[in-house]
Amino acid sequence: MKFLPIFLDLQAGPILLIGSGELVRAKLRLLLAADARVRWHATDGDYAIAGLDAAAASRIARVEGDPREADLRGVIAVLAAGAGEIGVDVAARARAAGLPVNVMDDLQHSSFIFPAIVDRGDVVVAIGTGGASPVVARRVRERIEALLPARIGDLASFIGRWRRSIHARIPEFPLRRRFWERVVDGPIGASVLAGRVDDAEASLKAISNPSAYAGAQTQGQVEGRVTLVGAGPGDPDLLTVKALRALQDADIVFYDELVSLEILDRARRDAARVPVGRRVGKPGIGQDAVNRLLIDAAKSGQRAVRLKGGDPFIFGRGGEEVEALRDAGVAYSVIPGITAALGAAAESEVPLTFRHEALRVTFLTAHRARDAETVDWSALTDTKMTVVVYMGITAASAIREGLLAAGRSPETPVGVFARATRPDAKSVVGTLDHLPTLVRQIDGGPAILVIGDVVSHSAPWRNSTLNQWISELQVAAE
Ligand code: SAH
Repeated sequence: MKFLPIFLDLQAGPILLIGSGELVRAKLRLLLAADARVRWHATDGDYAIAGLDAAAASRIARVEGDPREADLRGVIAVLAAGAGEIGVDVAARARAAGLPVNVMDDLQHSSFIFPAIVDRGDVVVAIGTGGASPVVARRVRERIEALLPARIGDLASFIGRWRRSIHARIPEFPLRRRFWERVVDGPIGASVLAGRVDDAEASLKAISNPSAYAGAQTQGQVEGRVTLVGAGPGDPDLLTVKALRALQDADIVFYDELVSLEILDRARRDAARVPVGRRVGKPGIGQDAVNRLLIDAAKSGQRAVRLKGGDPFIFGRGGEEVEALRDAGVAYSVIPGITAALGAAAESEVPLTFRHEALRVTFLTAHRARDAETVDWSALTDTKMTVVVYMGITAASAIREGLLAAGRSPETPVGVFARATRPDAKSVVGTLDHLPTLVRQIDGGPAILVIGDVVSHSAPWRNSTLNQWISELQVAAE
């Protein structure tokens, strides 16, 4: 560590800022946003700065004269543009006066540097690379921005408001720390992060015996919870920010077979991982057993994530799990995911709806030929309706027959999209009449079928027609 991150109290005195130009103005804005008072020596005499409110502008004091002789009395830090000699001389004077100094873009003459900052009110994260690479620092900042709940600062202020009163009521430090851990990790913290500060205030007020509340953890009475998380179709970058946060927060992850290893890798390193999925042909542990596992995990105080492919509420039995959790009195929440149809559609450029051409979309499932027999195909003959079939690979022939018998044209474009958004994705397009043949070309699932005119807009369709023309032209040329 070349530099120790510390946080400077800007109320203690003014900062001396020397220089002009955009970089200097950016620093000035940063300082003013942190409530600093700034003595500014604009070396080119231009003190104009846009977009400041009157209160901020009033905290700027102009300094004129030779910047090398600027008055350092009362100043708490010095910041100078890295414009050659002046910066170097100012730095030397500041150091001699025992003041921290930063010369912009000049590590050698700086005694402190500015970190990249994630600012969430009372919660501030500083990221440094020892001055080596601001670009790397910014990338790290983006990741932290994505991971930190938007209202984490509210949570810190909320605790700040209650600090004294709880301190008085729980004098013992370890117990007090447990109390706050329980507040932060439990339903009160969740309320603040969801923007319901009033609820959180009420719940905290309702705790009549804070010491007992803090002690509950040791007696195994903490509230666990279950979060149903949609993992998306496969590409880990298609996880939502919320899903990622839930994974990073989990004590245990119950995952489906469809969830890729790359996604599982995004879970907290020491979270337990339990596969509970069924695979075509192989039975899983059964829905009742899954429900039991979720309930038991939550009741033993764990933060459980139930990780499902795509979206939990699209053919994912999320509804049943939520009902079981509700019946068992377990706290739960649901985080949506990108369902396979949307992942495949985006990847292969199939607009599921299209002005004038496709006004409706239906998602249905036809697991086995037997399921296909129970589908009311006559409701799916509207040529302006796009039909998406999940788990439709084995029933492809029955689906074709059902739609044709109901009157949908054999020329209707269809696409079979396998392993969508994964590195080994494969798509095949053709017409409804050839659906069973198309399905045989994808080398295994998971795959969805998209049936409707919109498939003719897709990238694979455009490529295949192009290829067809080329081969026809070649035949004609011969
Ligand atoms: N809840 C999931 C669907 C679960 S049912 C979701 O919202 O996507 C399982 C079916 O989803 C598979 O049989 C297949 O039809 C489809 N599926 C899941 N992932 C897929 C992928 N990456 N590409 C294509 N189809 C997929």
